[in-house]
Amino acid sequence: MTRTLSIFGATGSVGLSTLDLVRQHREQYRVVALTANGNAADLAKLAREFEPEMAVVADEAAYPALKEALTGTATKAAAGPAALIEAAQMGADWTMAAIVGCAGLPSTLAALEGGKTVALANKEALVSAGELMMAAVERSGATLLPVDSEHNAIFQCLAGGRIDQVRKITLTASGGPFRTFSLDQMRAVTPAQAVAHPNWDMGAKISVDSATMMNKGLELIEAHHLFPVGLDKLDIVVHPQSVIHSMVEYVDRSTLAQLGSPDMRIPIASALAWPERIETNSLPLDLAKIGRLDFEQPDLVRFPALRLARAAAEQGGATPAILNAANEVAVAAFLAGQVGFLDIARIVEQTLSGYVPNAPHSLDALFSIDAAARAYAETQMDILPDAA
Ligand code: NDP
Repeated sequence: MTRTLSIFGATGSVGLSTLDLVRQHREQYRVVALTANGNAADLAKLAREFEPEMAVVADEAAYPALKEALTGTATKAAAGPAALIEAAQMGADWTMAAIVGCAGLPSTLAALEGGKTVALANKEALVSAGELMMAAVERSGATLLPVDSEHNAIFQCLAGGRIDQVRKITLTASGGPFRTFSLDQMRAVTPAQAVAHPNWDMGAKISVDSATMMNKGLELIEAHHLFPVGLDKLDIVVHPQSVIHSMVEYVDRSTLAQLGSPDMRIPIASALAWPERIETNSLPLDLAKIGRLDFEQPDLVRFPALRLARAAAEQGGATPAILNAANEVAVAAFLAGQVGFLDIARIVEQTLSGYVPNAPHSLDALFSIDAAARAYAETQMDILPDAA
C-alpha cells in the first residue's frame, strides 16, 4: 500500500533528509504536499521531482516565483497561512512537521486535528503549545511520532515497555561546539562558529540552540509532553560523541539505550516506516572505531539555558511559550550580528522575568502571548542585567 505524505519545511535540513528517504523508497510513498517559507526555487525543484498535488510558500511575496516555476506541471502553487492549513488538511496518511519555530504550530495542529500520523521535528510548536497539541492528539486519535533523535530514541526504548514502570529517562546532549569553552571564550564566538556543530548537520536556528544548549532545554519540555513520567524523572547527560541518542531506565534498573550514527535520516526513517522498518544509506555504527563513549554532567553556569528551560517547564502555563518566543528573537538577533552569544540566554531570562501573562487556553491566546513576548524580548537587546 502506498502511504501518502505531506512535508512541511521541505526545503530545510529535516525536510530534505525526509525526501532523501522517499527517493530511496519511491514505490512505498506518494507525496501530496510540500511547503517552504520563501525559497520558491528549491521548492519548485522538489515539486517537479516529487509531483505533489500542492506546493505552498508561507511567504506570499514568493508566490509569483513559485507559480511561474511550476508552470506546465500538475502541482497547484499556493501561498500564505491559509494555504499552509489547506495543505495540512489534505488528509495525508503521514505528515512531517519540520517548519522551524513557532511558525509551524498552526499547520502542525491542523495536521494533528486530522487524526492521521504526524512526525514531529518542529519542537518549538510542542514547547509553546504542549497542552493544546496533546489535547488535539487525544481528541482526534492522531498518532504523534517524535523525530528529534533523542525523543525518537526514547520512543524506541519504550516499545514493549510500560511508562508507569519507567524510573528515569535520560536525554543525551552533545554539548555543542562550545562544550569546553570558558565564559570569556563564549562571549566572543561568531554566528559562523555557532552554526558549525561538531556532530550534526542542521539548520541555523537549531545549531545555535545546540551551542547554547537551549536545544536540550527545549527537548526537556518536549519530552515532558511526549513521555509524561514527571519532570523529576527527566535527566540530561552530556555525551560528546552523540552515539547514544537517549536512554530509558526501568524500575528494575535495566537501562535501554538507542544508538546510531549521528544522521537524522535514521530517526526520520524510523518515523516514516513505523511500525515497520525501511533501509537507509546511513553509515553503520562502528563502535570499535569510535573506541570510547564519554559522559559528563551539564554545566548550568556556562549553559544557563538549561536552567531556564527546566524552570519554565516546572512553571508551566505560558512560561514555556515565552521562553521559546524570546529565544527565537534572541537567536535571530545573534545570527544577524546584533547581539553576542551570551546575550541569547540573558534576553530569554530578562523576558521571562519581565513578562507574566495568564496561561493560554486557546490558540489565539497563545499567539497573543507569543507576540507580546517577542515584542518584549526586542526591547531587551541592549538592556544589560543591572539596568533591567
Ligand atoms: P531549516 O532552517 O533547515 O529549515 C526550516 C524549514 O522551514 C525550511 O523549509 C523553511 O523554508 C521553513 N520555514 C522557515 N520559516 C518558516 C515560516 N515562518 N513559515 C513556514 N515555513 C518556514 O530547519 P531544520 O530542518 O534544521 O529544523 C526544522 C525543525 O526541526 C526545527 O524545529 C528543529 O528544531 C527541528 N529539528 C531539526 C533537526 C535537524 O537535524 N536539522 C533535528 C531535530 C529537530 P525556506 O527554505 O523557504 O526558508
